[in-house]
Amino acid sequence: MLSENEVNMFFSMLQIKNNNIHMGVTRYMITEITLLTDLQQEIEAVVGSDGAAALFYHASTEAAKDSTEEAGVDLMFKGMPFKEQLGFLLKITQFHGWGVGEIKEFSENPFRCVLVNKQTYIGDVYEGKADGPRCYYTSGLLDIFEFFAKMNEIDLKLQMTETKCKAKGDSYCEWIIEPEAPI
Ligand SMILES: [Zn+2]
Repeated sequence: MLSENEVNMFFSMLQIKNNNIHMGVTRYMITEITLLTDLQQEIEAVVGSDGAAALFYHASTEAAKDSTEEAGVDLMFKGMPFKEQLGFLLKITQFHGWGVGEIKEFSENPFRCVLVNKQTYIGDVYEGKADGPRCYYTSGLLDIFEFFAKMNEIDLKLQMTETKCKAKGDSYCEWIIEPEAPI
């Protein structure tokens, strides 16, 4: 959970520029969660869950790129060990309203990380009735994982799989991040 100090620190990083809220060069927009969840469900109804997963993976990867390289967030993480970087990233995502993410398992060599999210924004939308995981947008974190790996001079191509999801009735969401299986 975020401490009061952490909340204050993240608030202090926000600035008003040209009548908009910014963190670095990233402009923020505050909306209701339903803007995203309704959009996801409408897209699923048209292209199915695999199609929606692919679209949201692309969108979230682009968003992750913006919030690391372009926004200069990488400077904040410089010199931190990999696991601490991930912990700090999860604090930022929690501040941004994506739920309470925690590292359940972490090993660097061989690389394996298990993340959980107990308050995912999407879980309640499906009321536990989805036939598979539905937290498509979280897949963008994979790009940041690889970015951190590079910062720590670890050359890894990773894959991220959501193994438990509140959308399909699990009590929390869980992702396994590990090296991509050889083809
Ligand atoms: Zn989920």
